[in-house]
Amino acid sequence: MNNLAYRLDDVATAERPNTGRYAAERLEGLAATLFRPMGADGVYARTGAYEEVVDALAALITRHRDPVAEVFRFPPVMSRRVLETSGYLKSFPNLLGCVCCMDGSEAEVRGAVNRFVEGGAYTDALNVADLILTPASCYPIYPIAAARGVLPDDGLLFDVGCDCFRREPSRDLDRLQSFRMREYVRIGSADQISAFRESWMETARGIVEGLHLSYTVEVANDPFFGRGGQLMAVSQRQQSLKFELLIPVISAQQPTACMSFNYHQDHFGTTWGINQTDGKPAHTGCVAFGMDRLAVALFATHGSKAAKWPAAVRQMLRL
Ligand code: ATP
Ligand code: ZN
Ligand code: MG
Repeated sequence: MNNLAYRLDDVATAERPNTGRYAAERLEGLAATLFRPMGADGVYARTGAYEEVVDALAALITRHRDPVAEVFRFPPVMSRRVLETSGYLKSFPNLLGCVCCMDGSEAEVRGAVNRFVEGGAYTDALNVADLILTPASCYPIYPIAAARGVLPDDGLLFDVGCDCFRREPSRDLDRLQSFRMREYVRIGSADQISAFRESWMETARGIVEGLHLSYTVEVANDPFFGRGGQLMAVSQRQQSLKFELLIPVISAQQPTACMSFNYHQDHFGTTWGINQTDGKPAHTGCVAFGMDRLAVALFATHGSKAAKWPAAVRQMLRL
């Protein structure tokens, strides 16, 4: 049986008190339709019914792609050095997942395996590798853009995506440790980024309205780590560097961020040496689509059977 459903039920009622019994029961049914447990919170096997919707959403986002965008799909792992250089550790060290491998001598590896077979610990033989689990799909694009040299006048536009990992285990259907992210990333002048972000915030509203999802768009902050992080969060909000499109998935009181619209100023331009023609560092921005959250939002809103969703929604998704 699907234990996940019962555990989600507990959480929905205990930790989200405003959710109510009805919502908890609705989500219990939903969990069984969408996911199967895989032995870790926030890491789930996805059903065919769920994947059909994720694929349809991906195609819908692609239909809104600017024809000049260059497409890249990244693996679920990336260079540890690239992420360290990006400044990830300063902001979100608590969310990082790092790859460890047994790359000792044959005797060392054999010794570790033997300890395991005898019921002992083997993990002390693991060494930190040069790979980390990609936490957001835009990090790998900046060094690729930097390798091109000076930016063209029009800047650059990319369509990127990958499986992402964040160490935030939860039993909520909308907070996974392993999830899919798709992004459009713009690199150029401050004005170009601002125009890109404005335009995408408008387009995104149209998309979620077409999907008959209720939503709000609000200024937001990243969950920067620790006490120092609080200052960064305040400053990010004051400058409106991040907006989120929120959809009531589990509760209306705590709606879920399903898309974000981010302006990094010249952080990545300076970090990676991406320069505009006038020699100034490039500015960057991204619009991120949480593919799993959007899919869960659709099921939570319209019900567990996509065949019974409103005709206009099905048409928009070409289901
Ligand atoms: P939250 O505040 O809800 O944790 P976030 O600010 O960490 O979101 P971003 O860093 O902007 O999110 O990531 C882009 C998008 O990826 C989010 O808008 C969301 O849709 C999705 N996302 C982020 N974290 C998760 C997660 N743990 N599970 C599923 N989707 C996620
Ligand atoms: Zn991004
Ligand atoms: Mg988060």
